Amino acid sequence: MIVILKSDVTKEQVAEFADVIKKKYSVDVHTSFGEQSTVLGLVGDTKAVDIDSISAFSVVETVHRVQEPYKKVNRKFHPDDTVIDVNGYKIGGGELQIMAGPCSVESKEQIIGIAESVQKSGANFLRGGAFKPRTSPYAFQGLRATGLDLLKEAKNATGMPIVTEIMSADHIELFEDVDVIQVGARNMQNFELLKELGHCNKPILLKRGLANTIEETLMSAEYIMSGGNENIILCERGIRTYETFTRNTLDVSAVPIFKKLSHLPVVVDPSHASGITWLVEPLSLAAVAAGADGLMIEVHNDPPHALSDGAQSVTPEQFARLSDKILTMSHAMKSIC
Ligand code: PEP
Ligand code: MN
Repeated sequence: MIVILKSDVTKEQVAEFADVIKKKYSVDVHTSFGEQSTVLGLVGDTKAVDIDSISAFSVVETVHRVQEPYKKVNRKFHPDDTVIDVNGYKIGGGELQIMAGPCSVESKEQIIGIAESVQKSGANFLRGGAFKPRTSPYAFQGLRATGLDLLKEAKNATGMPIVTEIMSADHIELFEDVDVIQVGARNMQNFELLKELGHCNKPILLKRGLANTIEETLMSAEYIMSGGNENIILCERGIRTYETFTRNTLDVSAVPIFKKLSHLPVVVDPSHASGITWLVEPLSLAAVAAGADGLMIEVHNDPPHALSDGAQSVTPEQFARLSDKILTMSHAMKSIC
């Protein structure tokens, strides 16, 4: 249920009213102070909450029941875009952030070399997998804790915030110096992991599962947010369809849909969506045109010899040209929107 308050209510009145509601109905109250209005989201068992008695409070403008099962991530609870500030780089709210780096961290020279080159070409975030979710147990599993140390070295060398995937709640302590924790597609419905991440205050990049709907993705974000962590970035990375030409099918429409249904920022990963290097550029541009708040692109110095995902990785030189086009597209979008 959402309660929209009158525009002239003071912060003290909001706090007082929220307190009354919490006590009277034993529900959790989520307050959003927006540019246009203050919205209270009531979460929990709201069946017994009577719309007429809430409407009778002098501070209340209107009251609605929210039908969707996701509440805190719902745009109705928080009409303004959520903007996540990572070391001064803003994700959401009109900025476009490019996250780039290899699929897997392979060595110190590799990760620092790629970090320096993508930074020069316009990427603000360094991605790189240390714990790798591989389909085959015989494939390279990542450098694990050593990979995280190498990412930290690359961060120290460049100042770039790092984004890397977590696969188990048991590893959370190892991620202390990680700036954005990625939940990969295969773990989108690892609910115990999501609950644990709800208790940490780091930004979480939540990738849509291979075969998950938009609503299921929002419910996974709700798991994290209901634990108290509001710093969530949604990531569309392609879904399984009957098409076999590409590794996955980029669901471009998910971008405006996520942004309509939720206030969370949306990043697109054209690399895993396509599985093919030459498709990364058109899909990146399509994602920006669709309103994405950021892109996550795999870049490798030597794709044919990459330990994972070489077939979809662009070289640093290709990334430099791509990055220029992405920024041009982003400016064009700003001028027409
Ligand atoms: C990755 O980012 O390297 C990755 C494994 O992505 P996804 O979970 O989208 O497959
Ligand atoms: Mn990959």
